[in-house]
Amino acid sequence: MTTQQRDLYRILGVERDASDVDIKRAFRKLAQQWHPDVSAEPEADARFKEINEAYQVLSDPERRRMYDTFGEAGLGAGAAGGFPGFGDFGDIFDAFFGGRAGAGVRRGRPAAGSDLRYDLRITFEEAIRGTEKEIEFPVLDRCATCGGSGAKAGGAAATCPQCGGRGEVRTVRDTMLGQMINVTTCPRCRGEGRVVEDPCETCRGEGRTQRTKRLRVTIPAGIDDGHQVRLSGEGEVGPRGGPAGSLYVAVTVTPHRTLKREGTELYYELGLSIAEASLGTRVMVPTVDGEEEVEIKPGTQPGATIRLRGKGAPHLRRPGARGDLHVLVDVRIPTKLSARQRELLEEFAADGGETVVKGTGQGSGIIDRLKDALG
Ligand SMILES: [Zn+2]
Ligand SMILES: [Zn+2]
Repeated sequence: MTTQQRDLYRILGVERDASDVDIKRAFRKLAQQWHPDVSAEPEADARFKEINEAYQVLSDPERRRMYDTFGEAGLGAGAAGGFPGFGDFGDIFDAFFGGRAGAGVRRGRPAAGSDLRYDLRITFEEAIRGTEKEIEFPVLDRCATCGGSGAKAGGAAATCPQCGGRGEVRTVRDTMLGQMINVTTCPRCRGEGRVVEDPCETCRGEGRTQRTKRLRVTIPAGIDDGHQVRLSGEGEVGPRGGPAGSLYVAVTVTPHRTLKREGTELYYELGLSIAEASLGTRVMVPTVDGEEEVEIKPGTQPGATIRLRGKGAPHLRRPGARGDLHVLVDVRIPTKLSARQRELLEEFAADGGETVVKGTGQGSGIIDRLKDALG
């Protein structure tokens, strides 16, 4: 390292009058960019060290004042080049994890059991009406012999002698960035803070055993494909009395043959002939409550929709409320005509003053005629 004066403000890319917040923000940004574990740049180590040094000075009001007045000389021998103490590493953890080192890790008590997922297939109608299903799945459940403690009858778990019940052990290492406190989960008790000296023979000290669990699951009316029903406490139990995780019942709904569903709305495509659409008719439409007669008014256009209110899927969050069934009208143009039909249609066209291709041949559809026309 040269003895040349460095500009600590420039290293962090901030102005001389930058606020503490600006300085912290600049540091976090640069630390994330240049941390040697992240950056592949060859100078990452050196840059990261420099950024950290600048931050240690500028984030401390007293040291910043000395630096502003006297430059790095004001910081005393090796001060700006000095390494951060323990507390300061919190900022680096902050920068990387958005929280203090070890935050969110629960130590000194038994770990919670895993969540489980059960895939359940139900029919379209079951999804609309709701259903109850009996399910069966393998799960790690509380050991019946020791009641989950993991200790042999009459025994109990004792405070871990290695960590004193804290569930974690600290080691101090010297690194190029200075001393680093390494906090790890206690290997003896695996973070639980307690150890079983004389383990239960059934579960070998685990406090849980594998068994098959049977449950009745209520699937609410209106559930949709991809939804999950969460049963808290029905997942795997944690070792040695740890709380149980959740069971997630992931629902797959078999599609309906003719009805399509989007949320609470159902759709049915109704094909009508030219005559039906022109003259009007009554048709039977399938709904989840059975067939329903629907009136088609004369002159119904292709693309028209007929709404059957309250014939859709139930709202999950508004009991009693249901969506609608939308009947989408498609008018089908005949591709094959009998001689009589052709004659009638030609007459129909002539009556409307329309010019049409006549007598191209019995039963030839529009595709065939297009093919003929194209040679
Ligand atoms: Zn046991
Ligand atoms: Zn321990």
